[in-house]
Amino acid sequence: AHLKGKFTSIKHDIRKPLTIDGDIDMIFHFASRASPLHFISHPLEILMTNAQGTLNLLELAKEKDAKFLLASTSEAYGDPLEHPQKETYWGNVNPVGPRSCYDESKRFAEALTMAFVRKHDVDARIIRIFNTYGPRMAIKDGRVVPNFICQALDEKPLVIFGDGKQTRSFCYVSELVDGVKRAMNTKSTKGEVFNLGNPSEVTILDIAELVISLTGSKSKLVHESLPEDDPVRRQPDITKAKERLNWEPKISLEDGLKKTIDWFKETI
Ligand code: UDP
Repeated sequence: AHLKGKFTSIKHDIRKPLTIDGDIDMIFHFASRASPLHFISHPLEILMTNAQGTLNLLELAKEKDAKFLLASTSEAYGDPLEHPQKETYWGNVNPVGPRSCYDESKRFAEALTMAFVRKHDVDARIIRIFNTYGPRMAIKDGRVVPNFICQALDEKPLVIFGDGKQTRSFCYVSELVDGVKRAMNTKSTKGEVFNLGNPSEVTILDIAELVISLTGSKSKLVHESLPEDDPVRRQPDITKAKERLNWEPKISLEDGLKKTIDWFKETI
């Protein structure tokens, strides 16, 4: 909404073929729900957006001779056995688990993208986005940062899934966006895969404590059971993005959370 007027928007379900008049320079394919809550509520939509939707956009890129960027995910690595994760790691994904609708369809989207590069010479690249947060996340997004901030501001208990010792690595949104632009605009990135994320790894307990201290909340921590197949550790190796894209996140979790908390305070 804050960018209204700067863009023309078209409301379209990309699971259906798309025709656009005129030239297209670039396609950034970011469609698909990405919150684990939605893996349970919308698995079929997620599967087909990443499968049929990606095919439709790649066909469009081919037709228009447009550059293409697939927003893939750290979930492509599943519950990783290699740590930190490099782009060359093939992953450890449960193909029939509750997260598989997302993991496997993003993996399929990656395979499809590479097939279009090899077979049709489409100028496409893939980014694997690790956990990202910031202002304007949906309040009911279901992911850990908005959940903890809303719970802390409401003085309700912060609900930790499992013992909270599982780790994630959080990138502030503006830095992620900068990485996305670099992946698209840097020369010789056709057919390449880049991890984009902040390599600073924290436990979920660490985030809960940080959110409580930054909000000054009196909320306590409670524990609920860990969702099935919840990855134990996740941390990007961003050597390739540093070297090839000259990209490296600098904003600390504390500074990024302060900005995010300010936005949630104004909004909820
Ligand atoms: N999590 C939590 N409480 C919440 C939401 C998430 O403890 O209210 C945990 C979740 O089990 C996972 C981590 O926080 O280990 C990150 O979850 P999120 O849904 O944000 O993203 P994921 O990395 O799992 O895709």
